[in-house]
Amino acid sequence: MITFPIVLSAPSGAGKTTIYRRLMADRTDIGYSVSCTTRTPRPGEVDGVDYHFLSPAEFERRRAAGEFAESATVHDHSYGTLRSEVQHVLSGGKHVIMDIDVQGAAQFARAFPQSVLIFIIPPSIDVLVERLNRRGTESRDVLLTRLRNAQGELHEIGRYHYVVENDDLDRAVARVSAIVDAEMTRRERAPMLDEQVAGLIARLEHEIANYV
Ligand code: ADP
Ligand code: 5GP
Repeated sequence: MITFPIVLSAPSGAGKTTIYRRLMADRTDIGYSVSCTTRTPRPGEVDGVDYHFLSPAEFERRRAAGEFAESATVHDHSYGTLRSEVQHVLSGGKHVIMDIDVQGAAQFARAFPQSVLIFIIPPSIDVLVERLNRRGTESRDVLLTRLRNAQGELHEIGRYHYVVENDDLDRAVARVSAIVDAEMTRRERAPMLDEQVAGLIARLEHEIANYV
């Protein structure tokens, strides 16, 4: 199967986590790359499932050893994508989906140029703030940092191949799923296409010769 990395970016609270979880529940051909972070786990988050929660020293050791395909400081913490996680999912025959901030997405696309970059936008800032408040995982200060960063993130939307508005969740998940399906049929991704088409043309010549 043709597999590739799928990068989701969005302002915090726009719905990346909700969308990729739903997508993975709906499709068996997508796996998740668990990122590393130096932030502390939120209630309910599990080490090795939601993130690999690392100390700053361990994060730096791995960064210096070249283990990350990309890494960035987001909302005052370090985040990074392990090359080994990405390669493990791809070599298992699945697309690999990841949730990466805009700085990291640009680095990642250089390391894996076959990636599909999708930006999730909220229907409005009122909705974004309401979702962040409802999630209730951040203090007021942290929430403010996330809203400030959202401005910078929206400025980088030009780096992305697709933009999906997360208004109705079902619709947003269906749109991302449709993008994955469409990307699988991209001419550039087809393996051995030249040979396949040459075979079809040769067969046509044979067929035509039978008519003349
Ligand atoms: P992100 O991963 O982008 O920070 P989350 O996936 O954690 O965002 O979503 C933030 C909050 O908004 C969560 O409480 C989630 O349940 C809610 N949410 C996400 N998408 C929708 C949607 N389409 N409609 C209503 N609520 C949503
Ligand atoms: P959160 O702390 O809410 O889980 O994530 C905060 C931000 O970090 C989000 O914008 C998310 O996309 C980003 N992020 C999560 N994992 C990674 C990663 O591996 N690399 C980078 N560069 N950003 C990440």
